[in-house]
Amino acid sequence: MNAILKSLIWFLYPAQCRRCGENLDPADGYYICKLCWDQVEYIKRPYCEKCGFPLNPLSSLSEMIFSCANCPDESKFGKVRSIAYYHNSAIGEAIRLLKDNGKTIMADKLAEIMVKGINEFLDSKDYDFIIPVPIHKKKVRKRGYNQMELIGRKVSSKTGIPLETKSFVKIKNTPPQRGLTGKERIQNIKGSFSVINTSNIERKRILLIDDVMTTGSTVNECARVLLEEGKADNVDVITLARVAFSDLPDDIRDAMSQQI
Ligand SMILES: [Zn+2]
Ligand SMILES: [Zn+2]
Repeated sequence: MNAILKSLIWFLYPAQCRRCGENLDPADGYYICKLCWDQVEYIKRPYCEKCGFPLNPLSSLSEMIFSCANCPDESKFGKVRSIAYYHNSAIGEAIRLLKDNGKTIMADKLAEIMVKGINEFLDSKDYDFIIPVPIHKKKVRKRGYNQMELIGRKVSSKTGIPLETKSFVKIKNTPPQRGLTGKERIQNIKGSFSVINTSNIERKRILLIDDVMTTGSTVNECARVLLEEGKADNVDVITLARVAFSDLPDDIRDAMSQQI
């Protein structure tokens, strides 16, 4: 379509930002306006060096350096980094558009954000593979794609870290983690992943990528299986977004408040 025609269509039928409802400017890109993207709150230090949970500046040094009250009880991953806060953010909206509304174009912007996050928090030379958290084949059939695989493909081509999507799979079609307590999340996800090609994973340093991290039970279970079944050397994790303290499941929040 030529540029004049495109501008005319935009002028006659302005699309609205899916987050704030304002008219989109063609320069904004798809579905979400620049103002909303500018309001994204990126996670900065202090955070827990182990699980990446954003901490209060008054937190103890040991919480920042070793582990915090939000770290999973038995953390298997090397470290986790999350890029931005989830709730009511343009990132959250973009993830929903990609996951639930079939807007695969959002994978471009989300991959761009993930690449920036990798460059800021991690070193791409530390990894042999990017592995997107897998979804069950029934979900892939229904949605048509695994959203993290779409993002992973683009992140892989920008960072040069090869993408591996065939060796690690979800074998149980579990109900969504949303609305479950911390303990229920661990139970719900346990035993739902498997390594089907150990020789590809053995002794590899893996960067697992996911969209949103709440309690960390999903990525921790993935790391456990990749290390124990797959004999991986190390599994680090990066997620686009992070659920803030106030939105964590009640039992996790209560347990954390007692320790703080
Ligand atoms: Zn907006
Ligand atoms: Zn932590």
